[in-house]
Amino acid sequence: MILDDQLKQNLMEYLKLIEGKVMLTLSVGEDDASKEMRELMDELVLLSDDLIVKEAILSRTPSFTLSKPEAEARIAFAGVPLGHEFSSFVLALLQTSGRPPKVDEAIIQRIKAIKEPLVFETYVSLSCHNCPEVVQALNTMSVINPLIKNTMIDGAVFGSEVESKEIMGVPAIYLNGEFFGGGRLTLEEILTKLGQVESAEAFEAKDPFDVLVVGGGAAGASAAIYAARKGIKTGVVSERFGGQVLDTVGIENFIGTLYTEGPKIAADLESHVKHYGIDVMNQQRVKAIKKSAFIEVELENGATLKSKAVVLATGARWRELGVPGEKELRNKGVAYCPHCDGPLFKGKHVAVIGGGNSGIEAAIDLAGIVSHVTVLEYLPELKADAVLQNRLFSLPNVTVIKNVQTKEITGNGKVEGITYIRRDDQMEVHLPLQGVFVQIGLVPNTDFLSDLITRNRIGEIEVDAKGATSMPGVFAAGDCTTAPFKQIIIAMGSGATAALSAFDYLIRN
Ligand SMILES: Cc1cc2nc3c(=O)[nH]c(=O)nc-3n(C[C@H](O)[C@H](O)[C@H](O)COP(=O)(O)OP(=O)(O)OC[C@H]3O[C@@H](n4cnc5c(N)ncnc54)[C@H](O)[C@@H]3O)c2cc1C
Repeated sequence: MILDDQLKQNLMEYLKLIEGKVMLTLSVGEDDASKEMRELMDELVLLSDDLIVKEAILSRTPSFTLSKPEAEARIAFAGVPLGHEFSSFVLALLQTSGRPPKVDEAIIQRIKAIKEPLVFETYVSLSCHNCPEVVQALNTMSVINPLIKNTMIDGAVFGSEVESKEIMGVPAIYLNGEFFGGGRLTLEEILTKLGQVESAEAFEAKDPFDVLVVGGGAAGASAAIYAARKGIKTGVVSERFGGQVLDTVGIENFIGTLYTEGPKIAADLESHVKHYGIDVMNQQRVKAIKKSAFIEVELENGATLKSKAVVLATGARWRELGVPGEKELRNKGVAYCPHCDGPLFKGKHVAVIGGGNSGIEAAIDLAGIVSHVTVLEYLPELKADAVLQNRLFSLPNVTVIKNVQTKEITGNGKVEGITYIRRDDQMEVHLPLQGVFVQIGLVPNTDFLSDLITRNRIGEIEVDAKGATSMPGVFAAGDCTTAPFKQIIIAMGSGATAALSAFDYLIRN
């Protein structure tokens, strides 16, 4: 049985939402994945009269397409969409049946405006939590615009394609046969990459805001909600709404909730923010903040937004090693997300750079997949919690090398090794391996700020207890500030403080 009782129960609830017949066209052989696919379909048809299954020979086996009967199929799954991709499959079933995708009208218009055929192929691993968002976005585009097609391809089943394309990070998206993009991409990000952008004029025409929040992570969403609840005109401009929580799998310290997942928090933040009618300008990067009669927020698209007060909540990003080979071999063996990309290194030797909590958690995770993990730590001792270190040292396929500095990641088109320097005797050592996971912390996203906003040595914005910065009317919150401890609820709390302080500032000025 492929579907356990719980999954079957959930599926039956979803299948009640189906709006019409869906044809599932299967291409199956005698391999194990084909058998699994056939079994899944046999179980599915018993759950709904609207599902029709037929067999055919498609370009990949095992694979299947979804379509309305007699219509051309535009969505395909190569491999069995279980694991994290099961939700992509269910959504594709409902949308193919005629259930309208839950997407803003402005986005629907941007999708419909695409006038040339786009054939996407999206390589995934079933344990990748970032992959479903991409698969679902491309499937939604395929449902809305008949010129668009998407196939999800499980890299574990189609290993030779992964090898020949030298894919070492998922999701990996190909458009009309050429590499299009990798890593988590939202529907809006895909549209922007395709050149379907909102015009700068639409932004210029906006009236000044009372509070404009820069950044749509935990801190920014919280600030926006607190400001909007005061009844003032509030906007959020963010490069990637959701921020870091989008890259987080299990969260066990979101107080009041025993366990949740980052993408769920991000989706809840978005619907909470939108509930208050806040103007969310996603996919927009701020390049400068200036002071005139208003505070002027300049966007990279050329437009300038005006606001009486601003909350900066631009968070932080993965810190890069900054050594030769890192940029060149990114997604060719250099990776930052062990949960996403770990399965692609099955049976290989990888290094984890960084012996803090995130590095050691990554090493423990990877040790269950790869043949060997070598942890490289710059300091003479690991900084991770003792409980994590104990777990790490109990594993047979892990080596820890301390007091070393990474010098270079080597390889021709893909990672082939790493060179490090022993800090005690300056000896250079080369280690042949196939993957490098960089886990050396985060840097604040504050490079775009001028000296009018005081920052500390590592670029964090200096704030007082009310979240005020050195520029009057500009407040800051979350991971981009000097506030100690970078955590979700701390970011949310500081976002609330900054918004209430901004409101206080508006009353007084
Ligand atoms: C892998 C991982 C696991 C974690 N696990 C946990 C956990 O279990 N529990 C916990 O409490 N915390 C955890 N954290 C930390 C937590 O996610 C962060 O502290 C928190 O999300 C920070 O929120 P933020 O809003 O300050 O910043 P971010 O989430 O970084 O958001 C910043 C926002 O600003 C936007 N932005 C940046 N620059 C610009 C610009 N120039 N113009 C416009 N927009 C911009 C970004 O696109 C984003 O929307 C984890 C972090 C990581 C990376």
